[in-house]
Amino acid sequence: MAFTPDLRKSRMLDIEVDIAVIGAGIIGSACADELAGLGFKVALIDRSEPATGTSGACDGYISTSTKVPGITLELAVESQRLWRDLAAGIGRDIGYSQPGGLMIAETEIDPSALERQAEKLRAAGVVAELRDRPGLLALEPNFGPRVHAALYCPGEAHVSGYAATQALAARAVERGARVFWRSAMAPIEMSSDRLLRVELTSGGEKIRVAAEQWVLAAGLGSRAIGEQLGLPLPIEPRRGDLVVTERMARPLVGRFCASAHYLVAKGNPELAATSEDPRERLGYGFIVEPTAEGQLLLGSTRIFRDGDRSGDIDVTRMIVEEAVARLPALAGVAVLRGFAGSRPFVPDRKPIIGKSRKKTNLLVATGHEGDGITLAPITARLIGELAREQPLSMSLDNLSVDRFCSDPS
Ligand SMILES: Cc1cc2nc3c(=O)[nH]c(=O)nc-3n(C[C@H](O)[C@H](O)[C@H](O)COP(=O)(O)OP(=O)(O)OC[C@H]3O[C@@H](n4cnc5c(N)ncnc54)[C@H](O)[C@@H]3O)c2cc1C
Repeated sequence: MAFTPDLRKSRMLDIEVDIAVIGAGIIGSACADELAGLGFKVALIDRSEPATGTSGACDGYISTSTKVPGITLELAVESQRLWRDLAAGIGRDIGYSQPGGLMIAETEIDPSALERQAEKLRAAGVVAELRDRPGLLALEPNFGPRVHAALYCPGEAHVSGYAATQALAARAVERGARVFWRSAMAPIEMSSDRLLRVELTSGGEKIRVAAEQWVLAAGLGSRAIGEQLGLPLPIEPRRGDLVVTERMARPLVGRFCASAHYLVAKGNPELAATSEDPRERLGYGFIVEPTAEGQLLLGSTRIFRDGDRSGDIDVTRMIVEEAVARLPALAGVAVLRGFAGSRPFVPDRKPIIGKSRKKTNLLVATGHEGDGITLAPITARLIGELAREQPLSMSLDNLSVDRFCSDPS
């Protein structure tokens, strides 16, 4: 289907596409890139610009070790492979490298917990090596005595969420996608079972986009759009604070490292309400990640509230103190700033990916919480398969779009 701008009848610009993608974060940009690459005429719509949502305020750890065994881990294993191909083929610097990742055990954690995690990962096809303290120090010599063992996954990688989102949106354009930035969307016009068209206002211009299929990939904005469509998507903001250090000639760590306790904070949201420990009330789990610019990102929290991107001074101090307790040499490194992003959290802790039964031309790709950078390529691949009505390379039964409807049939 060709683009058909028609300016003769009114001041409204009418555009018809095969697929309209709403949201230009990492998920929507990856979907637009994939769909344009498959030959669809795509419109990519954002109320702001690419990477101005969560995808521009996060770490970029392409991880398997932090994933819940089951569908999320299976998606991550496949996506890690797709990231390698994407980084090699996209032709832009997206800050990708594959130094592996470490999950560290501290003195209060029994190494047998790491062994159990390693077994689950190996069962899913992940290469996972247990390292004692000398083996850990051979990889990361700056960890202090509090850290006594680690799980090393050599297939894990990093990417810049911001650069990758921008690169995917740019390649979507090269592949023919039309983009509509800073575009306020009116309510989407619908028939009883289909989405039809939407009116956009952008810088005083009005544009009406009609599409055969739609992809809802608006991160935290998906909930409000879902409400308008009569589709419950119970996504909540789960804030994560990060701290950036100054640049170093040699960063103190060479790869993403997370404490085993990070998994406890990620997987047990109720702890934030019930624990007496102030760190658990903030959903704190230690992470450190080197950036392509030679800085370190220190983190992070999991707090159920949205808000601005500014760092909180008390939380920043806590994150730095906890990081110094594990990496003593950090005490001599200057901290530049704290900032925060909000993860799109779904109560059953699984993303929402699939085709709506109620709105039959609507595909949804949202709710990736702390896993959206990792899962972007596999999400885009699956959305491409759904759009072409092809057999799916992975089952999406557990991620169903309609699972929050009172009548999902
Ligand atoms: C501190 C922190 C650390 C993280 N670390 C990692 C990590 O190491 N690895 C990992 O895999 N993941 C990580 N994540 C998670 C990851 O960042 C998110 O899962 C991912 O960025 C979500 O992408 P998205 O495209 O769904 O949402 P977003 O990036 O928020 O994009 C949504 C887009 O939709 C647009 N939009 C919203 N509403 C509307 C509307 N009504 N009309 C038009 N446009 C709209 C927004 O403007 C935005 O551009 C982290 C997150 C945080 C906060």
